[in-house]
Amino acid sequence: MAGEAKQHFTGRHLVNVRLTRPGSAKSTRHHEISLEDAPVTYLPGDALGAQPANDPSLVERIVAALDATGDETVTCPDGTPMPLAQALTEVYNLNTPSRRLLELMIERGASDLAPLLTDAEALKHYLNAWNDAHDVLDVLADHPNVRLGATELVGVLRRTLPRLYSVASSQKAHPGQVHVLVVAVEYPIRGRDRLGICSTWFADRWPVGTTAPLYLQNQQKHFAMPAPDTPMIMIGPGTGLAPFRAFIEERRVTGARGRNWLFFGEQHRATDFFYESELQAYASDGWLRLDLAFSRDQPEKIYVQHLLREHARDVWAWLEEGAEIFVCGDKERMAADVDRELHAIVETAGGRTPDQAREYVEHLRASKRYKRDVY
Ligand SMILES: Cc1cc2nc3c(=O)[nH]c(=O)nc-3n(C[C@H](O)[C@H](O)[C@H](O)COP(=O)(O)OP(=O)(O)OC[C@H]3O[C@@H](n4cnc5c(N)ncnc54)[C@H](O)[C@@H]3O)c2cc1C
Repeated sequence: MAGEAKQHFTGRHLVNVRLTRPGSAKSTRHHEISLEDAPVTYLPGDALGAQPANDPSLVERIVAALDATGDETVTCPDGTPMPLAQALTEVYNLNTPSRRLLELMIERGASDLAPLLTDAEALKHYLNAWNDAHDVLDVLADHPNVRLGATELVGVLRRTLPRLYSVASSQKAHPGQVHVLVVAVEYPIRGRDRLGICSTWFADRWPVGTTAPLYLQNQQKHFAMPAPDTPMIMIGPGTGLAPFRAFIEERRVTGARGRNWLFFGEQHRATDFFYESELQAYASDGWLRLDLAFSRDQPEKIYVQHLLREHARDVWAWLEEGAEIFVCGDKERMAADVDRELHAIVETAGGRTPDQAREYVEHLRASKRYKRDVY
């Protein structure tokens, strides 16, 4: 089963606990899910897929903006008839307006939106700008004179696609369960709280004790653990820690002898040190080498790449002994910063020229000793 790309099952939410403490800028949560005896298997490095539902209060506001009741029957993309409110909750993406919605609004008189269709930068800003993005409700509420029917609206909305989360548990350590570590995406724009669809569904809209359709996604082709005796270097700030909790548990429970080195980072040690007692316990007997970067605990920002630099000689020694290096978490900045630092380590600690360092890192990648799962 583990070889299949996707294994669907119905999971029951068992545990939903906030790991960040009061005062943290983030709400990052640990979720435990029962596999409910489904014959599914997963390995560390795999991911859990979920199909979330939208926030009912956002759905209500959109229904009100349409001057509808929510009971109107609409036809979903797969042909299923459904009441409007249910379709808006379960099927459609209300966060990112489609081009077809903008076109329809313009057709009906929202001429201020017209420049967005001919200016890619302006459109990108309108849909994605940090703290200034527009969602479907904004599009409707900003144009109270434009009236769309229920069928018209759903005809131009995107569907909500499933989201993936790294599995944070070893199935051998937690038979019958899968765990994930999810940061709830919430941000206010123009006085209204915007909610990431799936992360806040996990946090607030999937009650503990209830079930939901989920799937396990095999990621072994690009993010498989190394052989039991191979040293591994894991770089996972923020929720990037998730797969490495699974790696560590798997090695612990199988008695794998390879050495383990984890770089973790977050904003503050006092509020954002996820799985602190577990990790400290592994580190206290020397089984896990643990290096921590709490970026905002001192005047200058310290991130995981700075710790890599500080330990360049050891990183180089581990690589020369055949270590595999794993990176998980933020794609935008962290992964690129770590990649740059890795090249610098090969140059400085390994005494290579920049070209040779590029070749060395490329060889690590090609021989699957440098693996990334970034998002
Ligand atoms: C293989 C893989 C593994 C992953 N593992 C994890 C994991 O272990 N834990 C985890 O938490 N996530 C993980 N993710 C990310 C996860 O899949 C979702 O993308 C994430 O939870 C956000 O989804 P959402 O539905 O909550 O938010 P969405 O509704 O998709 O909204 C997110 C969007 O909001 C935008 N946004 C955020 N803040 C602002 C702001 N201030 N202003 C404007 N726009 C803003 C972002 O740019 C982003 O595009 C993983 C992704 C992949 C592909």
